[in-house]
Amino acid sequence: MRITVLSGGVGGARFTRGLLALLRDRLPDGAGGTTADVTVVANTGDDLWLHGVRVCPDLDTLMYTLGGAVHEDQGWGRRDESTRVAADLAAYGLGWEWFTLGDLDLATHLARTELLRRGLPLSAVTARLAERWQPGVTLLPMSDEEVETHVVTDAGTIHFEEWWVRHRAAVPARGFVQAGVERARPAPGVLDALATADVVVVPPSNPVVSVGTVLGVPGVRDALRATAAPVVAVSPVVGGAPVRGMADACLAAIGVATDAVAVARHYGRRADGGVLDAWLVDDADAAAVPALAAEGWAVASAPTLMTDVPATAAIAARALALVDRLP
Ligand code: GDP
Ligand code: CA
Repeated sequence: MRITVLSGGVGGARFTRGLLALLRDRLPDGAGGTTADVTVVANTGDDLWLHGVRVCPDLDTLMYTLGGAVHEDQGWGRRDESTRVAADLAAYGLGWEWFTLGDLDLATHLARTELLRRGLPLSAVTARLAERWQPGVTLLPMSDEEVETHVVTDAGTIHFEEWWVRHRAAVPARGFVQAGVERARPAPGVLDALATADVVVVPPSNPVVSVGTVLGVPGVRDALRATAAPVVAVSPVVGGAPVRGMADACLAAIGVATDAVAVARHYGRRADGGVLDAWLVDDADAAAVPALAAEGWAVASAPTLMTDVPATAAIAARALALVDRLP
């Protein structure tokens, strides 16, 4: 069983952790793991150079969450973290004071930057960092090339993290630009993971700046459209709101309403030129099921709040069960 997940940070990481719990239960390998083979393709559009180090927020969230080191309440960063270095950097008035680099987290960025400077591509660096954390999946960046999401505002174009963290997405976004995407190629293993999957899962990640960014890498959308595997997704919008974060501001910027039906139609069914086959909505959006079913979607509702690992494993089970409803 090969499963490929297209992921952002917190939403994708939490979902994948639940998926792994489900697989360990259903397809145990006898050693506490699973015989299933899970590959996660991570958004790297949020990546940035800061204080001379390369920061990869979504890859790190995945690595820490799946490796059991994440700051659970926060959803990202390391648990038992401190910020002494960041406080001292601020005393120099350099960098972005509103983007906190934790002391332990900084070790990850230093290690990554060192390996990049030795000439390793990001995919190899990611594999090397993951040796320590043993995330239980093959973790791939969407691309080895630097692709950064920039946000077009009336006051100019800024890095996505500046818009998201500093401005809390409150400055109206007129659009998003994937700087560098035209020369980006999918990282080694990405297209293969899509072509050889038994099922592809799009977790409840931000459809615009997480999954949308991965789909923007030349070749990824075509690979998703071409794979023989069913493509199932979980709605990141529950009852007309993103559960956490400001994904509604991203959707508004591209003219998509923040509701489970509009996001499904934005992705589109593969049979109609889109990228998905099946869509799991929250029970709060159960009213959306008949309309989407009439359009040909394999669709159902379920509780989709990722409150803990067992609840998230149950969401993954409901999403995978949609495969049986496909023609
Ligand atoms: P980020 O890169 O850290 O922003 O994380 P992702 O892009 O992977 O996921 C963020 C999205 O996950 C948010 O925009 C929410 O819409 C969605 N999300 C977060 N928690 C939940 C949850 O418990 N249930 C569902 N259905 N969606 C969630
Ligand atoms: Ca992110």
